[in-house]
Amino acid sequence: MGRIVDQYIEIAQRRNPGEPEFLQTIEEVLSSLEPVLQKRPDLVESGMIERLIEPERGISFRVTWVDDQGKVQVNRGYRYQFNSALGPYKGGLRFAPSVYPGIMKFLGFEQIFKNALTGLPIGGAKGGSDFDPNGKSNGEVMRFCQSFMTELFRYIGPEIDVPAGDLGVGAREIGYLYGQYKRLTTKFDGGVITGKGIVYGGLPGRTEATGYGIVFFTRNMLEACGEKLEGKTVVISGFGNVAWGTAVKLNELGAKLLAFSGPDGYILDEAGISGEKVDYMLELRNSGKNICKPYADKFPGSKFFAGEKPWGVKADLYIPCAMQNDVHLEHAKQIVASGCKFYCEGANMPTTNEALEYLMANGVTCGPAKAANAGGVACSAIEMSQNSRKMPMKREEVYEQLETIMKNIHDSAAAASEEYGFGYNLVAGANIAGFLKVAEAMTAQGYV
Ligand code: GLU
Repeated sequence: MGRIVDQYIEIAQRRNPGEPEFLQTIEEVLSSLEPVLQKRPDLVESGMIERLIEPERGISFRVTWVDDQGKVQVNRGYRYQFNSALGPYKGGLRFAPSVYPGIMKFLGFEQIFKNALTGLPIGGAKGGSDFDPNGKSNGEVMRFCQSFMTELFRYIGPEIDVPAGDLGVGAREIGYLYGQYKRLTTKFDGGVITGKGIVYGGLPGRTEATGYGIVFFTRNMLEACGEKLEGKTVVISGFGNVAWGTAVKLNELGAKLLAFSGPDGYILDEAGISGEKVDYMLELRNSGKNICKPYADKFPGSKFFAGEKPWGVKADLYIPCAMQNDVHLEHAKQIVASGCKFYCEGANMPTTNEALEYLMANGVTCGPAKAANAGGVACSAIEMSQNSRKMPMKREEVYEQLETIMKNIHDSAAAASEEYGFGYNLVAGANIAGFLKVAEAMTAQGYV
């Protein structure tokens, strides 16, 4: 007998041709939901899954700007408002050449579950553009952001949809986007965007929240398996904001970071990447070149491996923090062969479905991104509440809340997995726990 979820996977395939990333996340999530649907015929009758996999709204728009040479440039902008059952749409903006509807929908769909897991009142959305900020001047980035917001501002608002950063969108871009929103609306509505600078309404701790949250989550996962984070050797990928926050917290909690990577290759530093070496990751990111090789020139004893991924390096724990589909089946095989037992996703969907299945089938305990990296968006929701109360929060308060939220996410994923017969499987548990919350709200709100 076929699975109940297969009919929905077929619908998704028919409706979203040429969008493999979106279909990949749908297959991954729905596979976990089969036992839930078997127990809950009401959710089948109400078309819950079919409604959930269709974004409530998606917009695409032209973004025209003028580069430093005076040449007219055209990009495409997007916002997919996926689900508002739990609160205003919430999710980042990604600026990268690879952005197209399939990437926006995969991220928007993941965001629904991630945001539900935080326990905070936020729906799921994602947006962005195929604009590449790497190698662009400040002026070019500003003109692009202003043009992008000139269209987007019609669709967002503190009670409607609250964007934030993601790949290629950091503090600088958020500032330019917010400035233009304010100019267009003549309102200082801080709660319309998160990840703002602290002087104009941002939350202390938001910058590092995603990375710190990933490490808290990983620690919870290790402890649930009777292990300690302290003393573990770790390999991460990426060197952006998420990788940096992860590196800082790993060091603080006594783990040893051996390697990180960029699109140009990876850095191995057996002496450990800590202190000024971690700070240097930020310098690399801000260089606008998107390469990590200069690290090896600056820190003697470290090595650069051109064009390679770091998954062959022997370590106790791997945390991919770069981007989607960074870890394929052949990498999963390397990870298992190296004897590693723990793997926690930092970036969104960094593992192909077959690689993730291989890791789990071979005794590697895996933490899924939608649970592990939810600390970022959780702190964004705290930033929204700070803005509506008009009372700045203290960094220590934020850290404390973040740690509690990450523990709750871990525990609710672990409990849901146990309840639906998956044992200790955080991948399945996160999907189930997030889904049940959204499904309850959607049921209460009728067929919309
Ligand atoms: N882009 C981040 C994420 O994937 C943050 C989103 C937000 O803060 O709204 O969750």
